[in-house]
Amino acid sequence: MKRREEMTLWERIYLPEILKGLAITNYHFLRNFAVNVAHLFGAAKSHRASATTKYPEERKRYPDTFRGSHRLTLREDNSVRCTACYLCATACPAQCIFIEAGESSNPHIEKFPVRYEIDTLRCIYCGLCVDACPCDAIRMDTYVHPRIWGFDRRDFVETKEQLIHRSVVLAERGRDGNMQEMLEWYSEQDERVYDPLRPELRTFTEREAPKDYREPKEPVDLPVIDRERANGGR
Ligand code: SF4
Ligand code: SF4
Repeated sequence: MKRREEMTLWERIYLPEILKGLAITNYHFLRNFAVNVAHLFGAAKSHRASATTKYPEERKRYPDTFRGSHRLTLREDNSVRCTACYLCATACPAQCIFIEAGESSNPHIEKFPVRYEIDTLRCIYCGLCVDACPCDAIRMDTYVHPRIWGFDRRDFVETKEQLIHRSVVLAERGRDGNMQEMLEWYSEQDERVYDPLRPELRTFTEREAPKDYREPKEPVDLPVIDRERANGGR
């Protein structure tokens, strides 16, 4: 943006720029109006009437740097990488992360999250939790936006299973997988809502945990860290 002293007299008057803006707005209004009327009569089908994206039927591909919904990352043995250290919850300015720690059955890991929840109605998607995590256990590279509607507030609280499921979907279906799954869920719920018989509505959080997630039964033999050596003998 130009500073006032860098502006020409023409720009300082403002009126020409305002008229230019109005001309652009009117051009799009009249063009869309004409194309929509033509569509009513079956003409000009190859011309798009609107400049906006008709979500969810159409959607734009998010950029690589898009900060999307969270996921909990997994180790190679499918166990959750999070060690329930609470650093993300401490760093969170919205105080929307809830963790309940449990003792891990793996002798090399002290704790794991028995419960890990994010209240997305409070989350401001700042990414501080991702920055605070010392073991890369939480990420926001899912290329899916937060849920935009639900049946009750619990639908917006993302559970550990949901957060882990996003990692599985990302690995199996690629970067569009989580968004496709969300759109499928929207259509599934649409059908339920508009079903004239109204079968009992169930919230997302009451559904079963994703089938493809399993806690490892046997503790994995991870190498023991020689802390003295790692700290240079100190
Ligand atoms: S993105 Fe920000 S507000 Fe949301 S859970 Fe992480 S730290 Fe909290
Ligand atoms: S996600 Fe990371 S920072 Fe948060 S509790 Fe787990 S290990 Fe700690």
